Amino acid sequence: MSLSYVHPTPDSPWGTYLSQVDRVVPYLGPLARWAETLRRPKRTLIVDIPIELDDGTVAHYEGFRSQHSLTRGPGKGGVRYHPDVTLEEVMALAAWMSIKNAAVNLPYGGAKGGIRVEPKKLSTKELERLTRRYTSEIGIIIGPQQDIPAPDVNTNGQIMAWMMDTYSMNVGATATGVVTGKPIHLGGSLGRVKSTGRGVFVTGREAARRIGLPLDGARVAVQGMGNVGSSAAELFNQSGARIVCAQDHTGTIFNEHGFDLAELMPHLRATGGVAGFKGADAIDNEDFWDVDCDILIPAALEGQINAGRANRIRARLVLEGANGPTLPSADDVLADRGVLVVPDVICNAGGVTVSYFEWVQDFSSFFWTEDEINMRLDKIMVGALKNIWDTADRHRITLRTATFAVACERILTARQERGLYP
Ligand code: NAD
Repeated sequence: MSLSYVHPTPDSPWGTYLSQVDRVVPYLGPLARWAETLRRPKRTLIVDIPIELDDGTVAHYEGFRSQHSLTRGPGKGGVRYHPDVTLEEVMALAAWMSIKNAAVNLPYGGAKGGIRVEPKKLSTKELERLTRRYTSEIGIIIGPQQDIPAPDVNTNGQIMAWMMDTYSMNVGATATGVVTGKPIHLGGSLGRVKSTGRGVFVTGREAARRIGLPLDGARVAVQGMGNVGSSAAELFNQSGARIVCAQDHTGTIFNEHGFDLAELMPHLRATGGVAGFKGADAIDNEDFWDVDCDILIPAALEGQINAGRANRIRARLVLEGANGPTLPSADDVLADRGVLVVPDVICNAGGVTVSYFEWVQDFSSFFWTEDEINMRLDKIMVGALKNIWDTADRHRITLRTATFAVACERILTARQERGLYP
């Protein structure tokens, strides 16, 4: 029976996730008996966050933390600050975390949080008060052994530091392992900031090799030049690829010879977006989907690739840096057209993998070198992708359904072995 408290449509995030689950069920064998467990979050908390603004008025914000599954370990997943955050979106993002963590075999369940807010309209002090109150409100379900938040859209190391401090003050002991993506001085891990983009690059490099697409000279288009998109772009560029098109919330820029990232990155930092960059032409936002490129990296928000846009994409390879950027109907179009999609649930798993390294380092209070972290990340991502690729070949299914098959088998085997309480 469907849940009474959300009303997903086929294209909404939770609707997209449910349709992805439907597609994997035929490959689960006897474990399909437990599939319903995937279609509902274990626990979701909705909180009111009242804060005093700098002008003395009181504002209220909606906050969420959804724990989709805790079967394989503590919850793990980011916190998003965005005006469009909804309960349904957070539930879908939490569920994708369960799949992702199981796909790379990390000892975690899946969780996600968010606040419905435009953080760019708040002062630093207001943002701090918002973060601290949110952390206190969800403090009853998070913790180093319960559920470990991390950065996502519009959140960063500073916000993680405030979360860690608030939680620590509330429990009366410094608990560095309660969040990941922290500043290095507070138990953060080297390599964490760029790890999601690095994972996108590693899975992209492996997929390109398997389909005979040389990275040297490859043309890359990136949607979203934030943490994930810009780190991935830099690594592809270092491997000889040209970043020919980039889009963010400020506009879309194009240069068929490729941008000089050494000039674009300072421009991004100084102005907050790609608009106005001198080394490229501004093009219409919708023309992004027609750009002649070999690799397309959606690294902004979900629901970006619908069936219409999927028909226009000229890339051979789509690397999902963002969570949920492709609608199920678009997945079918891309598969029919022979465009290979490396799905979010493996492609952007580099971030949570290094978050796992950070959590392990915090527990042991012994910190690794950046080379060690990047080497271990590379190895885990390559191994996970190979396993998924073999599963896709065996069943003749897309990489997305194969990733779900690998992950759901792990989650549901754990569910079956634990049994139902009481
Ligand atoms: P970010 O806030 O650093 O960057 C987001 C980017 O998207 C910005 O460049 C912004 O301008 C752009 N953007 C926002 N709205 C847009 C729109 N309507 N059209 C085009 N561009 C738009 O966020 P991030 O951490 O880079 O996350 C990006 C995606 O990657 C999200 O889907 C997130 O869930 C996913 N992700 C992030 C991490 C991580 O470690 N940060 C890990 C896994 C997945």
